Amino acid sequence: MLNKGVTLWFTGLSGSGKTTIARAIERRLKASGCRVEILDGDIVRTNLSKGLTFSKEDRDINIRRVGFVANLLSRNGVIVMVAAISPYREIRDEVRSMTENFMEVYVNAPLEVCESRDVKGLYAKARAGTIKGFTGIDDPYEEPLDADVTCYTALESVEESAAKVVAQMESLGLVPVVQSVNGRQ
Ligand code: ADP
Repeated sequence: MLNKGVTLWFTGLSGSGKTTIARAIERRLKASGCRVEILDGDIVRTNLSKGLTFSKEDRDINIRRVGFVANLLSRNGVIVMVAAISPYREIRDEVRSMTENFMEVYVNAPLEVCESRDVKGLYAKARAGTIKGFTGIDDPYEEPLDADVTCYTALESVEESAAKVVAQMESLGLVPVVQSVNGRQ
């Protein structure tokens, strides 16, 4: 059985684990023969949305573009994983309303945890004032009110978070249920 197209929208603070979990899911799904694409916010901003700033207006334009591409792919049978901070609830809901199969995944970790990880060194720059308008520091993050799945990455392993998302996809019939060789998901 083939997978259905779906957009998995990972939202959360920088360093919360969106990309890491999306990559883990990608490995699982590709191993089961699913068609998968990842639209990573950091990469999108170097091409599709190159030149956009981090003002609310530009962030919204960026999210609309990503949502547009995700919708094109997912309606053609691709599992699209978007990993983008996407801090504003209204634009996330707008994208949800224009996308046929849409799952919102809230990648939740306390700011202190994200900041201590500081994967890209951006929190240090934001604290030093070198970067302005950084989400969580001097720009808002609006939590999802009704996410389809919430991953608590300060409490769960990457594989546990990935398994939760895949289980939800399976229960919605978006991917076939596949047991791995050792019987665990
Ligand atoms: P984001 O895409 O949200 O900015 P990244 O995935 O780039 O975040 O970075 C998250 C960091 O947190 C990675 O270094 C990852 O290894 C680490 N990490 C630790 N525990 C987890 C977890 N349970 N889930 C996801 N990432 C985790």
